[in-house]
Amino acid sequence: MTARAATSALFLGLAACATQTPAPSAALPPPAFEDTPVYSSLVSAAHPLAADAGKDMLAAGGSAADAALATMLALTVVEPQSSGIGGGGFLLYHDAESGKLYTIDGRETAPKAATPTMFLKSDGTPMSFREAVPGGKSVGVPGNIRLMAMAHARFGRLPWAKLFEPAIRLARDGFEMSPRLHDMLAARPQQAGMTEWAKATFFHADDTPRLPGETIRNPMLARFLEKLAEEGPDAFYRGAEAARLVNTVASAPKNPQAMTVGDVASYKAVWRDPVCGTYRTWRVCGMAPPSSGGTTVLAILKQLERFDLKALGPASPESWHLIAESMRLAYADREAYLGDPDFVSVPTAGLIDPTYLSGRSALIDPAKAAAKVEAGTPPGAGAVARVPDGEVPSTSHFSAADRQGDVASYTSTIEGVWGSGLTVNGFFLNNELTDFSMLPQVDGKPAPNRVQPGKRPRSSMSPTIVYDASGKPVLAIGAAGGSTIIAQVAKALVGVLDWEMDVGDAIALPQIYAPGDRVAIEAGSRLEDMTAALTAKGHTPTAATLPLKANGIERKARGWIGGADPRSEGAVAGL
Ligand code: GLU
Repeated sequence: MTARAATSALFLGLAACATQTPAPSAALPPPAFEDTPVYSSLVSAAHPLAADAGKDMLAAGGSAADAALATMLALTVVEPQSSGIGGGGFLLYHDAESGKLYTIDGRETAPKAATPTMFLKSDGTPMSFREAVPGGKSVGVPGNIRLMAMAHARFGRLPWAKLFEPAIRLARDGFEMSPRLHDMLAARPQQAGMTEWAKATFFHADDTPRLPGETIRNPMLARFLEKLAEEGPDAFYRGAEAARLVNTVASAPKNPQAMTVGDVASYKAVWRDPVCGTYRTWRVCGMAPPSSGGTTVLAILKQLERFDLKALGPASPESWHLIAESMRLAYADREAYLGDPDFVSVPTAGLIDPTYLSGRSALIDPAKAAAKVEAGTPPGAGAVARVPDGEVPSTSHFSAADRQGDVASYTSTIEGVWGSGLTVNGFFLNNELTDFSMLPQVDGKPAPNRVQPGKRPRSSMSPTIVYDASGKPVLAIGAAGGSTIIAQVAKALVGVLDWEMDVGDAIALPQIYAPGDRVAIEAGSRLEDMTAALTAKGHTPTAATLPLKANGIERKARGWIGGADPRSEGAVAGL
C-alpha cells in the first residue's frame, strides 16, 4: 500500500478510527481505488441502469453528449423521484474538437402569469413548502428536452432516436424496483401517489409501495418517449402533448396554476459562458447563474488557496475548520447576490474576482471560527436583500467521457423528491418554482431570487469540470442534495486536488456543510470524532443526516476512472 493509499484508507474509515493506533496494514480491507477499473470511455450515474444506458451509447460510437443525454432519459424511468424530462438541468460540455467548454442552461422557467407574490398567503406571510410544493403552483416549464436538443445538435454523433432506445426499453419491459426507490415511495406516499397513474404504477392495490425487486413497467412513458424519438423536441413543447402538460398543471387538484401552451412553446435553453477560475495549478469551471453552483464552489476553493491543505490532510480538524469557514463566507455571498442574470443584476465576475476573494479569505482565522459571517461587497454588486430559500433534496448528477476526448458534466432535477407530485405521460413534473424566494423583498429591498414571469429560479446545482495545467480536462463531477450540492462538490474537489484521492474516495469522504452560522457534520462519519476539536475552534457542530449523492469521473495517466457515492445506488459503467 502506498503512503497515499494508507492516508485515504485511514480517513475513509477503512481502518480503525483515525484517532486510535492504526491496525497493521495486513488487517485492512484493500482500499477501494486499488481495484478501480480504468476505462477509455465511461459514465458515472446515480443508478446502474442509467449508467448502462450511457455506456450503450458509447459502445455504439456515441459522444459523451450522447451518453449523458441517454442517461438523463433513462433516469426519468429508473429514478423518477429525482430527475427527468419533467424537470430541468445544466450541462457543462468540453468539446475536444474545438478545445472549448460550453454550458447549456436548461433550467425551468416561471410562466407569464407568475408574480413575485404568488407564494404569499392572503395575510402576507409566505406559504410553507408543504403548502407550496404539491400541485400546479410550483411547476416550472421543463427544460431538459430543449437542453437535450441543443446539445445533441451540436455535440451528438448518434441519431436523435437512438438516444431514446435504452429508456424506452426500460419503460416498456420494466426494471427492478430498487431499495432506494421503495424507500422514497414509503417516505412520501402522498406526493408519490398523487395521481391515479402513479398509484397504479408504484403502489399495490392496498396503497402500500411496491417492494424492492418487483418489476416496474411504464408503458405510458415508453409510448411518449417513442413519440419524442420519432417527432423530435417539438412533440414535447408544442401541440397535443404540450396542451396535456398545461392542462395537468392548470387543473391540478391542489394549487392550480395558469400555465399556458404559449409558456411551454416559448421555452428556450440557453448557451451561457462557463464560470471559471484557478485553484492552485488547476482551472475549475462551473455553471453560471441562475445556478449559484459555479461562483460558490469557486469561492470556497479560492478562499482556501492560501492554506496548505495538502500538508494538513483530511485527518486534521484544522482542515475541516478552514473548509467550514470558507463555506460560510461563500454561502453568505450566494444568499445575497444570486438570481437569474436575465432578470436581476448578478455580480458574477465580482463574486469570483481573485482580489475580492483574497479579501474574503483574510476573514478566515485558522485558530477560531468567526462569530458571525456576512455577505461581502464584490465588485459590481448592487444593493440586495438577503432572503433565505429552502430546498428539498433530490436531483441526479452524471458525468461521461468518450474516446475522442469530449467530457460531459450534467446535473438534472425535478427539484424535490417526486417533484410537484403531478404526472403526465408517465413522468413527474417538477416543483422548481419553489426554488424562488417566497418573499419578494426584505426590508424594502427586492430579493434577487424573487419570482418574475419567464424567470429561472436560482439553483445550487454544480456540474463542474476541472482542467490541469496543460489544459486537459481531468475531472467532471457534481452532486444532488439541494444546497448541500455546493458543499459536496467543494469537498470532493479538495479531496482530489489537495489530498490526491481518487474521485470515488473523495466523494466518500465525510461531509461538512456550513451554509451560514451553523455547521453540520455528517452523522455517523469520522467527522463526529472531531466534534471536540471543532468545538474548541468555536463551532457548534451538529451531527446531521445529509442528503448526499455525488458522481464523478477522473482522468488518470492510464485512462478514466469513475466514482459513485457509496451512500447511494450510483454506479460507473465504461468501456
Ligand atoms: N432544485 C435544486 C436546485 O436546482 C436541487 C434540488 C436538490 O438537489 O435537492 O438547486
